Amino acid sequence: MKLWLIGAYGIVATTTAVGGKAVEKGLINKTGLVSELPQFDGINDYAKLRFEFGGHEIRNLDKNLSQAAYMHWEKNRHYDASILKEIKHDLEKVNAKKGTALACGTGIEELGKIQSLENDGLSLREIVERIERDIRKFKNNDTVVINVASTEPVAKLNEKYHNSIEGFEEMIDEDKKEFASASMLYAYAAIKNKIPYGNFTPSIGSSLPALKKLAIENEVPHAGNDGKTGETLVKTTLAPMFLYRNLEVIGWMGYNILGDFDGKVLSHKDNKESKIISKDSVLKKILGYSPYSITEIEYFPSLVDNKTAFDFIHFKGFLGTKMKFYFVWDGIDAIVASPLVIDIARFLLFAKKKGKCGVIKQMAFFFKSPMESNTINTHEQFQQLAGWFKNTI
Ligand code: NAD
Repeated sequence: MKLWLIGAYGIVATTTAVGGKAVEKGLINKTGLVSELPQFDGINDYAKLRFEFGGHEIRNLDKNLSQAAYMHWEKNRHYDASILKEIKHDLEKVNAKKGTALACGTGIEELGKIQSLENDGLSLREIVERIERDIRKFKNNDTVVINVASTEPVAKLNEKYHNSIEGFEEMIDEDKKEFASASMLYAYAAIKNKIPYGNFTPSIGSSLPALKKLAIENEVPHAGNDGKTGETLVKTTLAPMFLYRNLEVIGWMGYNILGDFDGKVLSHKDNKESKIISKDSVLKKILGYSPYSITEIEYFPSLVDNKTAFDFIHFKGFLGTKMKFYFVWDGIDAIVASPLVIDIARFLLFAKKKGKCGVIKQMAFFFKSPMESNTINTHEQFQQLAGWFKNTI
């Protein structure tokens, strides 16, 4: 597979590259990869666990992928150092290409010096052409683009420019940068070039009506949004228990603290809003009503990539008696995220080779805010994915 990662030097991207290469070389086992479960036997004929990586970035462009991986490893030490040594030469060959940071919010100022195409004075058309050129040079029939860049603020949708393919093209031709955001431009470039696209972030990406239409027209599969890896995974696995036992959830508080770049970017109000909306909407969809809910995300530098979520659930049982449930999720963000990036890429490639296009709704299992799907219950999502795979292969 050829995986093009948007946000190539971030911790999720670099851990995906390290893990992908380590699996390929047999240095680690396949724990964490959903696509390696017996339910998905045969996927290897469509998407092998052999990898080449490339991607776009907006900082540290003088570095290579190995150096970027090492920078994260030094701070987090989130896997055995010997793995990094063994694959160093493979990752050294990869240099991310300069991307765009349009409408990425104030949060990305935290990342250091930004190097973006618009800062070089390029028009929207020129930016899109550069992105497309980079991706085209890399692509073959086994290529997938996955967005693992920092979360953008909530996009303001515009009827004229975002609803139709013609409108989107007009926005580019008229250089209306104020209506464009980086994630939509990357998604456009992938779909226009018939490359499957996955959005691991809550950013708008391919969810614009114009890009959904383009995906159908170009027969490209796509999926998103926002990888379901930590607190939301536990929440959407646990909430059905209250539903099945006819217990009434009165309130659910989730307090998340995290460090690292993702935490820094999310400490900015506009960038954080996208994430909170994505996390918050799940309970109503599972339970059918909205319990009182508090969802907080706060930056906690010393935790680095170790994300801790404290959840408190207040619920009512027989005779109106109130009871409480607490859990603490203490996950290493990149370790839970990166196998899913590989899984998403594999299922998208499988979908493409089986002639599926548009939003692959059956991939809801991987996302906090699955596009065009109201199935939020993790158990049901897994059955959907397994059923779809069985009927498609
Ligand atoms: P990170 O800050 O380590 O990495 C993000 C990378 O994207 C950085 O290297 C940054 O320079 C780059 N970037 C930012 N804007 C860009 C742009 N417009 N074009 C190209 N590159 C850009 O963050 P991370 O922890 O790797 O998370 C990546 C994304 O995945 C975030 O949006 C996060 O919310 C999302 N996500 C992560 C998890 C998880 O880690 N468990 C779960 C769900 C979603």
